[in-house]
Amino acid sequence: MGPHTTTGAVFDDPAFDDHEQVVFCRDAASGLNAVIAIHDTRLGPALGGCRMWDYDSPADAVTDALRLSRGMTYKNALAGLALGGGKAVILGDARRDKTPALMAAFGRHVEALGGRYITAEDVGISTDDIEQAARMTRHARGTAATGLGDPSPYTALGVFHGIRSALAHRFGSNDLAGRRVVVQGLGHVGSGLAKRLSAEGAELVVADLRADTVRAAAEQFGARSVDAGEAHRIEADVFAPCALGAVLNATTIPELGAPIVAGAANNQLATEEDGHRLIARGVLYAPDYAINAGGVISIALATPGGSDEEVVERVTAIGSTLSAIFARAEREGRPTGEIADEMARERLDRALARKAA
Ligand code: NAD
Repeated sequence: MGPHTTTGAVFDDPAFDDHEQVVFCRDAASGLNAVIAIHDTRLGPALGGCRMWDYDSPADAVTDALRLSRGMTYKNALAGLALGGGKAVILGDARRDKTPALMAAFGRHVEALGGRYITAEDVGISTDDIEQAARMTRHARGTAATGLGDPSPYTALGVFHGIRSALAHRFGSNDLAGRRVVVQGLGHVGSGLAKRLSAEGAELVVADLRADTVRAAAEQFGARSVDAGEAHRIEADVFAPCALGAVLNATTIPELGAPIVAGAANNQLATEEDGHRLIARGVLYAPDYAINAGGVISIALATPGGSDEEVVERVTAIGSTLSAIFARAEREGRPTGEIADEMARERLDRALARKAA
């Protein structure tokens, strides 16, 4: 059974939100099974990464593509980009099933959409993989040949400015000197963030499953290390999740040791209810897709060999967007995530009105 068996269910999927187009992609020779969901192209081509994941069923892959592509419409609109939202998922185990031929076949399917969907890296897909796809399509980004290469340093920069905004909102000063920040996950983004925070005089506490990266951070930044499962409990000014999703849930929220949560990880809230739990605990939460938009901004705006001046300016503006979200959330007593969604819809409506004028 291939993923095509689920097409009838797309319109009934709870994640379906008037998506413009859902494409099922198959290449028998390379074994490619993929779903590309284009949620909204009213502002521009649908930009969103390609994820490779070993889904339990094709229906789960469809649901994920629907949910993630809608999220990209909101993320791109809130970041002020003239782009719509889309996402691709490749079904399979990235370590076992991914080959250059499979990525090339994926690239051919992206090309066939004629630029309505622009692909990039995501979980399970590296910039090298996108380069394989880019042999077959002009509509791939986030590689050295298409722009500034790895987007992670720009994601880290955006998170850094987001943390500053949160400090300013909570404490009246964005100064990092002497502030204790817990960085959970020292991967591409977390390590870049730790470096910036340390340079500004923050006291770092770090956690990662990989002992070598923890040791390196301890040596480089004088960071204290804690067990991965302990990170959210550490008493600090800021908890910065830069590893997994669903890190904020009914169990962890009551245990949080910091009054601010601001980090790069996607889908930090396990459920919508957790936004209310954070308010009840008096924790200021920087909505994940608002604070981690630096990568997509670099992918969208960078040109091959071009300067990153405009990118840096737009990534720095993530701080102002968050300040506006925090202020409105406090005025209205509502979760910051809800406010981010509302502001994304407002920005989308305004941009569409400008386009029509
Ligand atoms: P990465 O894979 O490079 O790093 C993740 C790190 O987290 C690894 O070092 C891993 O060992 C560690 N880790 C995993 N489970 C952990 C746990 N339970 N406790 C502590 N550490 C743990 O990923 P990345 O590119 O740095 O991205 C980090 C997060 O930010 C992800 O959620 C990603 O979706 C999100 N994000 C990344 C970007 C980007 O530009 N890379 C953009 C937007 C969002």
